[in-house]
Amino acid sequence: MKLPFLNKWLDNQYNEADSTQHPDAIDWLRIVPFIGLHLACFGVIWVGVSGTAVLVCAITYLVRMFAITAFYHRFFSHKSFKTSRWVQATFAIIGAMATQRGPIWWAAHHRHHHVHADSEQDPHTPQDGFWHSHIKWFLMKKNFNTRSEYTKDLQQYPELRFIDRYDIIFPVFLATGLYFLGESLAANQPQLNTTGWQLVIWGYFISTVLLSHVTYCINSLAHLFGFRSYETRDDSRNNPLLALFTLGEGWHNNHHCCPGSVRQGFTWWQLDISFLILLVMSKVGLVWDLKYPNPQVLKNKRIRGQA
Ligand SMILES: [Zn+2]
Ligand SMILES: [Zn+2]
Repeated sequence: MKLPFLNKWLDNQYNEADSTQHPDAIDWLRIVPFIGLHLACFGVIWVGVSGTAVLVCAITYLVRMFAITAFYHRFFSHKSFKTSRWVQATFAIIGAMATQRGPIWWAAHHRHHHVHADSEQDPHTPQDGFWHSHIKWFLMKKNFNTRSEYTKDLQQYPELRFIDRYDIIFPVFLATGLYFLGESLAANQPQLNTTGWQLVIWGYFISTVLLSHVTYCINSLAHLFGFRSYETRDDSRNNPLLALFTLGEGWHNNHHCCPGSVRQGFTWWQLDISFLILLVMSKVGLVWDLKYPNPQVLKNKRIRGQA
């Protein structure tokens, strides 16, 4: 019995030729799990809520958001610091648990965005509409495949190629682990008032939907709403609220000004939690060679009279 949809869901290299026919179409069969991810949140009607479940939801949100912002973005996409192969692989796996595909796919499309930001070739400019920039672009057949011409440096690592090809494994591991954690707490710590399925719904499904849409907001809202401090060729904005929820990514105009900088909040009041954590990691030797903006570039691109 042939089940081509299983291959579509499990193996990112399956059926790549698909993207050449109707490149702008949404591949509805391929995105069934993505739709299911959203619908599964309604499971909260049956599993209820507890303080434990909300705490686990917050932890899985924050840890995976850090993996996306500090590693998928600042490390894999922009190489704004250096690290060991072990740390690189560990955060590639935690990032894959965020269910935003693997590090090579993510970095490839993001590098393409920086080259063409808010031009016709930008895969997710809000000039093509809010929903296009927020969600539709990565559901289109043409953007399913990795733009491998941008990521030769990452493809030399077989472990990254494996994580990228089979990224779906890692969210499944996370959800399974949460189920067993919840069942074990239900048996041994009944006063915590939780269950396996409650931790799966809160710690994986609700947390992932929140994490996903907040991340997508950087492609949509951070090119629409906020203030501009630096002259760039795109519409990027600095947005303090997004910076808070994304652990620092909301300083997006700063970032488009100096994409290679490990730091995206440039002043003392521009809170950049990912940078602060990376700074602590550098003190204990987990990361090193942190790159900072060139002061002359900042001075030249500064828009006068802006915050
Ligand atoms: Zn951008
Ligand atoms: Zn970037």
